[in-house]
Amino acid sequence: MEVREKLAILADAAKYDASCASAGRDQAPSPDTPGIAKTRGSEGRAVSLLKILLTNYCIYDCAYCVSRVSNDPPRALFTPLEIADLTMDYFRRGYIQGLFLSSGVLQSPDYTMEQMIEAARLLREEKQFGGYIHLKAVPGASPELLSLAGRYADRLSANIELPRAEDLVQLAPAKTHQAIEDSMATIHRQVLETRASRRRDGPRPAFAPSGQTTQMLVGATAATDRDILAKAAALYGLYDLRRVYYTGFSPIDHAAPGMATVRPPVLREHRLYQADWLFRFYDFTPDELATEDDGSLSLEQDPKLAWALRHRDFYPVDVNAASREALLRVPGLGLKNADRILRLRRFHKVTMEDLRRLRVSVRKALPFLIAAEEWDPAGDSESAKLAARLRRPLQLELFDAAQAALTGEF
Ligand code: SF4
Repeated sequence: MEVREKLAILADAAKYDASCASAGRDQAPSPDTPGIAKTRGSEGRAVSLLKILLTNYCIYDCAYCVSRVSNDPPRALFTPLEIADLTMDYFRRGYIQGLFLSSGVLQSPDYTMEQMIEAARLLREEKQFGGYIHLKAVPGASPELLSLAGRYADRLSANIELPRAEDLVQLAPAKTHQAIEDSMATIHRQVLETRASRRRDGPRPAFAPSGQTTQMLVGATAATDRDILAKAAALYGLYDLRRVYYTGFSPIDHAAPGMATVRPPVLREHRLYQADWLFRFYDFTPDELATEDDGSLSLEQDPKLAWALRHRDFYPVDVNAASREALLRVPGLGLKNADRILRLRRFHKVTMEDLRRLRVSVRKALPFLIAAEEWDPAGDSESAKLAARLRRPLQLELFDAAQAALTGEF
């Protein structure tokens, strides 16, 4: 089979893996340059990666996967040299800044991992490739091979696949959470050990300097958003993951007991990413966020606004007295602005005008906070008038229109 034909098959099969932050769903690949996925780097910079599988042959039979052994899609297999040559070709032409390489399981997890490592080794040692490499940790691959993979890769990822262990047993009988988390633990240990020895002994080769990520399927089973967030929070805590990627399940023409048959709303993924951000950086806990009766996040409101509307007694937050944690619970106030407010109030009372100058989303935040003017007994400053003018209609708009279900005055 020609490399071009392999590329068409293996780039298409790779699009189901979201753990390189691919924006692939929204972007049709160019027919001239198949396999290029636009992604966001850790600093938010847009980068392009060659996103392919080593092979979509697989000895496993995960019910939710088009590449499973019991399915019959067109199959292909790259050699490590073909991957290295293809990557260099795209890289030299300026199409990509790096490679994302995943794979089905060919012969055995260790054999597959060895082939992927060989592609990365060829790139680094023989072709002097200085771009980014993200390698998938094949489930069940030995710790020694994972340690070797991290010497060539910038990032490794072991996919947890499904949030509940019992669902994985049912739909992907060859995989277990325990084995996948063992891979995560190996990677985490190596990252820590390498960091420590570099501090202690000076420069030495890095190990997966961009850390590790994982991917979780959303909507493939009856697992709730609460299940998903609880699992994500546990993985972040145990293995210091850089990101958990939440990928909407794509139904396939194959039914399995316990597996969904419809695609979850795209908004559900978006809400999970918002909640993920809140428990990682805003001191929320997953339990506080997915509180609908059925364990889901609200689709109508973002999770922070939904929490605020359920906890009216927590507001208004006084920007001149509140703790950082309380400021972070104000809808429309982000991390940077919470810290700027804390700095500013060392020098003077923070006013509405200050918030506007900080580009706080006043429209969103105003119903939930009070600034210096609110305590102005005369209440006749320009800022006080502005606050008074804005506050009432915004409160009504937010609480009456968006929260018809809730009763009582704010
Ligand atoms: S191991 Fe990976 S490629 Fe193979 S069937 Fe499972 S999800 Fe698909």
